[in-house]
Order: sequence, then structure tokens, then C-alpha cells
Amino acid sequence: MNIILFGPPGAGKGTQAQRLAEEYKIPHISTGDILRANVREGTELGIKAKGFMERGELVPDEVLIGIIADRLREDDCESGYLLDGYPRTIPQADALEQILTEIDKPIDYVINISVPEKDLIARLSGRVMCKCGASFHKLFNPPKEENLCDACGKELYQRTDDTEEAVVERLKAYNKQTSPLVQYYEEKELMKNVDGSKSIDEVFLSIKKILD
Ligand code: ADP
Ligand code: ADP
Ligand code: ZN
Repeated sequence: MNIILFGPPGAGKGTQAQRLAEEYKIPHISTGDILRANVREGTELGIKAKGFMERGELVPDEVLIGIIADRLREDDCESGYLLDGYPRTIPQADALEQILTEIDKPIDYVINISVPEKDLIARLSGRVMCKCGASFHKLFNPPKEENLCDACGKELYQRTDDTEEAVVERLKAYNKQTSPLVQYYEEKELMKNVDGSKSIDEVFLSIKKILD
């Protein structure tokens, strides 16, 4: 199964991706998680990306295209892939198409999770994350033990780009640079729309219905 999870910041891509990866036994590839790991480790890539991420801007296309081209060629993608947070611009989508042709793994579906903007702000401002990639919400999806990850037990943290200022910038970047991809994938007849304002379980079921 070859899937792209699409939607604005805070739509629930990461939350759904974790469940879907388990259900369909495909790797969850989150460009945000890959970039954050590089920032933490202080790699050359991390140093390049850090400022853009903190300001809520997109990291330049050539950086992301390089990351995804390498990642999709790893062995675990033999079974398929679940992309979360990529592509975010038309040039990224065009580059992806070329890579997928080369490795012969065409996209099956692009799942567009839509959520009203005011809900996105409430979700992002209460989000707490784990280094393992799991995400929780202080009110909407609290961990079983306060401030500890259900999946791995590590301490949760608030992302430095989940501040009000950076969230406003990220939503602007989504509207300007990423939302044109809706039409791009509609024209290719790959886009499936899901109402992301429902509960986490309900959203999961509506995605499963499309995929099964
Ligand atoms: P994205 O990866 O699209 O940015 P996340 O999966 O990290 O989004 O979710 C953003 C925040 O919203 C997190 O705090 C998460 O726990 C919460 N969340 C995710 N899905 C829902 C939902 N259906 N209803 C309410 N809160 C949700
Ligand atoms: P969210 O879905 O909550 O907005 P992500 O974890 O997907 O956040 O991404 C965090 C940040 O990483 C983005 O604001 C951006 O700076 C950078 N980033 C992640 N994926 C991409 C991408 N495909 N293109 C450009 N920048 C990206
Ligand atoms: Zn964890």
C-alpha cells in the first residue's frame, strides 16, 4: 500500500499515521520527524533546517527532495510507504513522481484530512510530543500517565514551533505553498477527502474504509 497523508499542520496526520502504519505494516515516513531528529543530533542537515522550522517556514525544496529520495529507497519500503508531511509544494510533488517512477511504486491514494482553522490552532497549542514520534494533546488526547509517552515511556515535550507566532506562519505557509496540491492530486484522481474534525477513532475508521 502506497499512501500520502495530506492536510494542514495539526490535522492529525501523525496521529493517524502511527495507527495506519501498524494496521497495514508499512513504514511511517514523517519528514518533520526526520528533520527534528537531525536538529537534535546537530547534523549538517539539522543545522540547515533549524531556523526555517523555528520560524514556521518550509525548509527549501532541494533539502526535502534529497531526504525523501534516499528514504524511499530503503529496504522497508518494499512493502509500501505512508508519507506524512511530504510533499508540501508542487516542486516536491513533481520530484516525488519522478522518484516513484524510478522505483516503480506509484501512489495508491492521497488522503486529505481537513479540519477548520480554529480547531487546528487549539490542537497545535495543546500538543505534546515524544521523541519517538508519538503525539498527544493535553485535553483531547492525554497520555495515560501525565507527561509520559504511552508508547515508550519517555518524557513528553512541547515543540518549539507550536508557539502562537510559529503556528500562524505555518498556517500561512500551508495556505500559500501547500494547498495548491489539493487540485494537483484531484486532477490525477488520487485525492480522497476525510473529515478530520471528528474523533481520532472516527477519522481512523473513515481512512480504513477508503483503504480496505
Ligand atoms: P499533524 O501531524 O497533522 O500536524 P498531529 O497528529 O500531531 O497533527 O495532531 C495535532 C494535535 O491534535 C495533537 O495534539 C493530537 O493529539 C491532536 N489530535 C489529533 N487528531 C485529533 C482529533 N481527531 N481530535 C482532536 N485532537 C486530535
Ligand atoms: P506539522 O504537520 O505539525 O506542521 P511537521 O512535523 O510535518 O509539522 O513539520 C515541521 C516543520 O518541518 C515544518 O514547519 C517545516 O519547517 C519542516 N518540514 C517538514 N516537512 C517539510 C516539507 N515536506 N517541506 C518543507 N519543510 C518541511
Ligand atoms: Zn514515545
